[in-house]
Amino acid sequence: MSVVLTKPKANNKEKVKEEKIYDVIIIGGGAAGLTAGIYLARARMDTLLIEKMSPGGQAILTEIIENYPGFPHGIAGPELMQKIEEQAVRFGLKIEYGEVLKVEIKEEKQDKIKIVKTDHQEYKTLAIILASGAEARKLGVPGEEKLIGRGISYCATCDAPFFQNQKVVVVGGGDTAIEESLYLSKFAREITIIHRRDRLRATKILQERIFSNKKINIAWDSIVVKILGQEKVEGVLIKNIKTGQERGISSQGVFMFVGYLPNTKFLEGIIKLDDRGYIVTDDNMMSSHEGIYACGDVRKKILRQVVTACGEGATAAFAAEKYIEELKGVSYK
Ligand code: NAP
Repeated sequence: MSVVLTKPKANNKEKVKEEKIYDVIIIGGGAAGLTAGIYLARARMDTLLIEKMSPGGQAILTEIIENYPGFPHGIAGPELMQKIEEQAVRFGLKIEYGEVLKVEIKEEKQDKIKIVKTDHQEYKTLAIILASGAEARKLGVPGEEKLIGRGISYCATCDAPFFQNQKVVVVGGGDTAIEESLYLSKFAREITIIHRRDRLRATKILQERIFSNKKINIAWDSIVVKILGQEKVEGVLIKNIKTGQERGISSQGVFMFVGYLPNTKFLEGIIKLDDRGYIVTDDNMMSSHEGIYACGDVRKKILRQVVTACGEGATAAFAAEKYIEELKGVSYK
């Protein structure tokens, strides 16, 4: 259904400008983007999914996903994501790699073309589905930048085995901090969770597991003042915000789970973002610009889960399909 104007010019040194116009370009290959891909491939829309690294998104960093329906005993994050990718590819979804740096809207009169620029290529499309997700937020305390990769980590599933029998601290009290602490407890000798309030934000079932885990203790009402150590992490200095008292905790590892930042820098000035940078959409996942949709963790919403990402991906794909059909005058309405 897509229009090919001229053949792409192959030039390895310069940016390749692909003159083909896709129906839909999906940006991001996590649960939301891949699900949108499944729906669009089955709808026979000419679709391209662009992914920065490798498909799977945040979910591949999760040891076990227990709340995705259909798997009563849970499923490993990487396994679930590999199955979703396999499903999308089986229906014919095309995936290319590149970092999207910019989206431009070149719409004049009837021309509804949008441009997606990656670090090495430029694509044209009629619709875009933004599924670029979010990335771990840094705490922003002294010592953090210097010691990243030298004891500071943002992914227990990736780095926990390096801390066999060692003492570690975890910062944060949300689902990620608690799930990752439970995973860390398989390796580390002792885990101290540092949380700035007197109650956890995490789901109750995760809290129950934490409270009954003998390796894990919690420093309530406490914040990290700085990370200690020169060449590698040796501990943290924490402060009780109710008493003002400071104390050091010796530790070989610091795991930070203080929330996420949406990957929307490349969208500034193009569509409406909320004050934290998340994309604002309507119920059909359409952003403030017609033909541009958003789904998954990058969208403003209250629940960020694989199951919500998949649902939104499906809705965004269906809405984009209707938009394309109307543009091409093949709508059934
Ligand atoms: P989150 O829910 O935003 O929690 C972030 C945690 O970090 C909160 O406890 C917060 O404290 C703390 N925090 C934030 N800024 C801080 C700072 N400057 N200093 C100290 N502490 C700070 O983030 P998340 O846990 O990564 O979860 C993100 C989303 O993914 C959520 O929607 C979550 O439900 C979802 N998720 C779900 C699952 C699951 O269902 N199994 C697993 C992982 C993540 P306060 O509580 O005081 O705000």
